[in-house]
Amino acid sequence: MPTYEYLCSNCDHEWEAYQAISAKPLRKCPRCGKMKAERLISSGGGIIFKGSGFYQTDYRSESYKEGASADRKAQESSKSESSKTKSDSSSSTKSESTNAKKSTSNSD
Ligand SMILES: [Zn+2]
Repeated sequence: MPTYEYLCSNCDHEWEAYQAISAKPLRKCPRCGKMKAERLISSGGGIIFKGSGFYQTDYRSESYKEGASADRKAQESSKSESSKTKSDSSSSTKSESTNAKKSTSNSD
């Protein structure tokens, strides 16, 4: 469960609350009792943490790519290139349809 930071715009009281993501944001300030609480997006919140984490992994993948490509080069020099084996099975069905067309025009 993420921690949300709240700030009361009435008395400037700040506090944290554990809430489910689906939970509605608090409105009542526990200090002054006014409905002036506003949820802040803070570094302790789950949402911001997710965002920064995504950025970090994205950034890391950049350097990871460089390392991986260098690794791959080393592997390719030792290994021979891997053969791509993709069978073409469409040619047999193609010739069948052309044969059928031919026979119809012939009979005419
Ligand atoms: Zn307050």
